[in-house]
Amino acid sequence: MNAVVYKGEYEVAVEEVEEPEIEHPNDVIVDITTSCICGSDLHMYEGRTAAESGIVFGHENMGIVSETGDAVSTLEEGDRVVMPFNVSCGFCQNCEEGYTGFCTNVNPGFAGGAYGYVAMGPYPGGQAEQLRVPYADHNALKLPEGREHEDAFSLLADIFPTGWHGTRLANLKPGESIAVFGAGPVGLMAAYSAKLQGASEIYVVDQVPSRLELAEDNCDAHTIDFREGDPVEQIKAEHGGEVDKGVDAVGYQATDPDDVDEDTDSFAYDPAKENPAVVINNLIRVVRPTGELGIPGLYVPEDPGAPDEMAAQGRLGIDFGLLFEKGQALATGQCNVKSYNRYLRDMIIEGRADPSWVVSHRVDLEDAPEMYERFDNREEGVTKVLLEP
Ligand SMILES: [Zn+2]
Ligand SMILES: [Zn+2]
Repeated sequence: MNAVVYKGEYEVAVEEVEEPEIEHPNDVIVDITTSCICGSDLHMYEGRTAAESGIVFGHENMGIVSETGDAVSTLEEGDRVVMPFNVSCGFCQNCEEGYTGFCTNVNPGFAGGAYGYVAMGPYPGGQAEQLRVPYADHNALKLPEGREHEDAFSLLADIFPTGWHGTRLANLKPGESIAVFGAGPVGLMAAYSAKLQGASEIYVVDQVPSRLELAEDNCDAHTIDFREGDPVEQIKAEHGGEVDKGVDAVGYQATDPDDVDEDTDSFAYDPAKENPAVVINNLIRVVRPTGELGIPGLYVPEDPGAPDEMAAQGRLGIDFGLLFEKGQALATGQCNVKSYNRYLRDMIIEGRADPSWVVSHRVDLEDAPEMYERFDNREEGVTKVLLEP
């Protein structure tokens, strides 16, 4: 079958790979109908992780069950399903407590597994024609049959729950104000989640005009272009002070607002402008004393392409003194998708939520190499790309 294979820095190819097989009685095989390209795939694509060539990408997967292992009891051939990007067992201590992003059984020596991701276990990705799903009764969420809501449901694998998780990490309450740094797909979903949860005011910070427009149009957000000056001062001026809560939807490959070129039309990622602590420090500045910060943005313990030696070891120059002085709390970590996906699915089915506005492209799997390049360049209008095998 065909799959998107990582070849090395800035290179993926669609290649023939072996079809997955049932390896355990709890597995199912899914014929992929949609698999999304994610911002976190770009960390690997840019060579900023320990990913080696040969990995099949794709952790945001949905499709139709085509084969079931003998011990699978709730799924059958023909079921339409979406899988959390987390691979989890359902019965370890963390899974039992709802932390399926930190399963201790699926990836020995590590807490957490995922499809198609470096260091996340032996699970090839779903940017392919087929996917093997382990612990399938637990890891596959059933969807209504047909093709309805295909775009929206595909976002249940990662970015809609992850954006929602950002607001939960910040413990957002109805009526509170919130600043979301980053208007990539996860930041946009965090802003949308804040709207659904009744935030009074939502500020979204980015530099790409088309992304800020999406936030304004779909999340009723105040948009803050950090090329126009310190985003913290801009938010404080517009809001009349600090906000209640903040979300970091950027992570370690953050562009320093002090280093941006105001006249450029290119938003391609530039390591020379990188400051891995800048978003967290801006959140500490912009959130009020005793406010809370949610950090679903990705940080890594080792970064082969880091701007300095400290960052290479995952150490950041965080203004911890100011955080302490303000009595703020912060919460981190990847999303436990299973905590949210069932409920967000039902909001989509009932018409209470429709995150599909974030999708900009649905293309053939064969077009993946071109779309990786365009998404990596933060090309205007390339927000969320869905692949269809
Ligand atoms: Zn993702
Ligand atoms: Zn587990």
